[in-house]
Amino acid sequence: MSLPERLRVVVGAANVLTEGDLSAWEVDWRKRYRGHALAVVRPASTDEVAAVVRLCAEHGTAIVAQGGNTGLVGGSGPDATGTQIVLSTARLDRIRAIDTANLTMTAEAGCVLQRVQEAAAREGLLFALSLAAEGSCTIGGNLATNAGGTQVLRYGNAREQCLGLEVVTAAGEIWHGLSALRKDNTGYDLRDLVIGSEGTLGIITAATLKLHPRPAAMLTAMASLKTLEAAAALLSLAHARLGPGLTGFEVMNAFSLELVRKHFAQLRQPLGSASWTVLIEQSDTEGESHGAAALEGLLGTALERGLIHDTALASSLEQANAMWHLREAIPLAQAAEGPNIKHDIALPVSAVSAFVASTDAALERTFPGIRLVDFGHLGDGNLHYNVQCPEGADAKEFLRHEAEINALVYDAVDAFAGSISAEHGIGSLKREHLAARKSPVALAMMRSIKRALDPAGVLNPGRVLPPPATP
Ligand code: FAD
Ligand code: ZN
Repeated sequence: MSLPERLRVVVGAANVLTEGDLSAWEVDWRKRYRGHALAVVRPASTDEVAAVVRLCAEHGTAIVAQGGNTGLVGGSGPDATGTQIVLSTARLDRIRAIDTANLTMTAEAGCVLQRVQEAAAREGLLFALSLAAEGSCTIGGNLATNAGGTQVLRYGNAREQCLGLEVVTAAGEIWHGLSALRKDNTGYDLRDLVIGSEGTLGIITAATLKLHPRPAAMLTAMASLKTLEAAAALLSLAHARLGPGLTGFEVMNAFSLELVRKHFAQLRQPLGSASWTVLIEQSDTEGESHGAAALEGLLGTALERGLIHDTALASSLEQANAMWHLREAIPLAQAAEGPNIKHDIALPVSAVSAFVASTDAALERTFPGIRLVDFGHLGDGNLHYNVQCPEGADAKEFLRHEAEINALVYDAVDAFAGSISAEHGIGSLKREHLAARKSPVALAMMRSIKRALDPAGVLNPGRVLPPPATP
């Protein structure tokens, strides 16, 4: 029997797709990678995942795990050879348990992030991971990429939201690691090894997640600033004034919001155009009026000190959501504007302003008229430092400069002791950059881990690390 025929016996004929339009699984969100799968397989349980992996291992067939396919680094689809299996986690979608006393939830890998947030909310609790793709990305994908998002400042990355994992290994064995413990020092941390490994070390089938008390009130404000330096000063002030109440601090340059104005004209912008705009979110445990007083106090001081020159405080949930929609519309507006070059970088917060000043200038010198879409999670020192071609230029043609632009940006990132991937991962997109820029010792350790856990190289081969050179 062929592999697809054998897989049909395990998961049912309807859940092994080999014909028709498979582009939903074969093309990535940015439409930059188009692969071709031998089959798309949709197991419904951990045992089925394990059986699928065992069969693929037997046939020497590579497996690409896929959740919501919202990844931005070309890591979640098959390559073009037509020899790889896409293992979709869509049917692993049960919330297995919520323990309100332990503040934990156990959810299967294919649960969409928003569903997990809603399930926590129904218990009066908070699952503190939030990103613009939350309506489609999955918990398995979030953990496999160690996703960040807009609340990292207060609650940490996906890694910090996870206590335990259930994982199918490259050999098709099941590691039952669904610990609900906050302390467990029993040797090497296998959970943290799998988190962020982008489907290259194991397939996550379920996770035990941390929940938090739900804040009594969430307050949101926007402010206009002249410089990024002022934004960093405002961030320091916000930390001092709001303490752990500061849950989000996003920054957007003028062109980011101009693109939103152009492609999403229906979204009202409460503030006029400014060099920089910040979005601040405060969570208050004591309620609306207490929170509003603290946030108004912060903005008042910032106005007095000349850090900001205009401000808008959301006075309803609708207004707060509208502010967040503006921020979340930036990547969509960028996609509508045409092909672009993305950099998801991390820097020490104290270096962000100097990095942007010198790198913007260097790019403008080399590519006059280049349009910079600088926005992101300033509270984490994480910028989406994206590049759009000059107005009126042929965008596809401009992409020919991608390698040169990447080199310029990543050299600057290295000079400021930053990271070339803050939250999106490596996938295919940054694999060569990682190999060129990570220390040889770190790379050798990563290769040893990959060889130990996936000796035959069946799990998402060629992602994160370049394939081993053939002897
Ligand atoms: P996929 O795209 O399906 O897969 C991503 C990677 O994880 C692949 O390598 C895949 O093989 C692997 N994988 C998926 N499921 C599993 C599993 N069960 N076991 C093992 N490996 C698996 N990311 C951020 O960090 N912060 C943001 O703010 C953010 N904003 C975004 C906004 C938009 C509009 C979009 C489109 C994306 C954004 N992303 C962001 C990127 C993306 O949403 C995240 O990386 C997300 O975590 C991916 O989840 P997914 O289920 O779509 O995974
Ligand atoms: Zn982001």
